[in-house]
Amino acid sequence: MAGFRSEVDIAVVGAGAAGIGAARRLVDKGSVSVLVLEARDRVGGRVHTIEPAGFPLDRGAEWLHSADRNPLSPMARDLGFSIHRRPPEWTTRLRRSGATIEAEADWIAIREAQGWARRKAAAEPSDRPLASLLPPIGRWHELLDATSTWGNGAELDRVSVKDYVRYEDSGVNWRLREGYGRLFERLADGLPIARDATVSRIDHGGRAIRLETTRGTVTARRIIVTVPTSIIAAEVLRFDPPLPDKLAAAAGLPLGVDDKLFIALSGSLPGVEPDIYLVGSTTSRETMSYQVRPLDRPAIYCFFGGRFAAALEREGEEAMFSFAAGELTRMFGNNIRGQLAPLASTAWQRDPWARGSYSYALPGHAEDRATLAASVDNRLFFAGEATSPNFFSTAHGAYLSGLTAAEAALATVAQN
Ligand SMILES: Cc1cc2nc3c(=O)[nH]c(=O)nc-3n(C[C@H](O)[C@H](O)[C@H](O)COP(=O)(O)OP(=O)(O)OC[C@H]3O[C@@H](n4cnc5c(N)ncnc54)[C@H](O)[C@@H]3O)c2cc1C
Repeated sequence: MAGFRSEVDIAVVGAGAAGIGAARRLVDKGSVSVLVLEARDRVGGRVHTIEPAGFPLDRGAEWLHSADRNPLSPMARDLGFSIHRRPPEWTTRLRRSGATIEAEADWIAIREAQGWARRKAAAEPSDRPLASLLPPIGRWHELLDATSTWGNGAELDRVSVKDYVRYEDSGVNWRLREGYGRLFERLADGLPIARDATVSRIDHGGRAIRLETTRGTVTARRIIVTVPTSIIAAEVLRFDPPLPDKLAAAAGLPLGVDDKLFIALSGSLPGVEPDIYLVGSTTSRETMSYQVRPLDRPAIYCFFGGRFAAALEREGEEAMFSFAAGELTRMFGNNIRGQLAPLASTAWQRDPWARGSYSYALPGHAEDRATLAASVDNRLFFAGEATSPNFFSTAHGAYLSGLTAAEAALATVAQN
């Protein structure tokens, strides 16, 4: 089959952001033969742009986070993508949704206080969950939990303080008008990627590493594994001999759940200007974040996470839409109901090759990222967002981890 070699110097497992980063670096060096094995019939993994209504929608990653430090920003610019630099209106969400300015200021103050408490707690010897830092009673507990599900994919009781504070955020966030997924499609152009090639077993007991795939066996001198932690932890992909440290690290870094529902909006919402954010409720952890007319498009992007998202995934798109339409009509009145229609939705936890959205560390498991990232016998290398020490759970963190793994693998190939 086209693009499929059964013997290579370096095999890369997965063609998401990390796998594309690794493969580009290997191919650019030109000194080794490379094959990327991808289970899906497309590249990009958790970065995926679709166009069901005449404008691009990012099912997964949308924002170039830390855009001023993000290596993908200049690459997108050089490839001719149009970068939208207007900062997201995340901090005016409450007042836009009907809360008073006083309530919004109180909310922002409590968030800042939590930020301080988290950094202080992270310096203590033992790790703890983010939830342990909440005051016993508080007006904003539910909303803090809901925002944790948007940022971490999980509620505060599940997230490690030590890991959480290691994430680096420059506060600059940009978007690509064409869609983040389209950038990765471009970056994958010309790379030796075998699609529909699921890797089920990696036998690294012999001199050559053998990868069993749905398209036959591949042997390689080195491999770079970039699959999500969920795939390693559930042993959808098995190592032989087993790698118990990797299995344990992957289990300590589960993928949280975040999903999107895209709603077509005819006209505009009363009094709402384009490209602003709303929140459905400040008193329930089961609520959605709404991006209204993003980039002036006739749509509302709804974002929701955690146990709530997992439950809605099981119920399906109709339930997602009914929930979102309910929150929006409570804010803007029943008249807007006829302006809304479902366009598309995601179910990342039910996606067999993702099984979730992005990784967080369970309390006590902040060091698992380094364990997962470590190479085995200088022959097996690991990349992917969960291995990033400071940009985990992002597309650029994944991409950078791919570059690092590629350099490390190349250095060992050069040695012998
Ligand atoms: C809803 C949502 C919103 C997000 N928003 C943002 C955002 O705004 N900004 C941001 O930076 N990040 C965001 N992210 C996170 C970002 O998408 C991910 O962190 C990043 O894309 C992960 O890249 P990766 O290469 O590590 O993993 P993946 O993209 O999962 O790539 C791994 C690849 O391995 C393949 N694979 C799996 N199992 C096998 C197997 N057995 N054999 C062969 N191939 C296999 C998969 O199909 C996949 O293509 C978001 C994610 C989601 C889901």
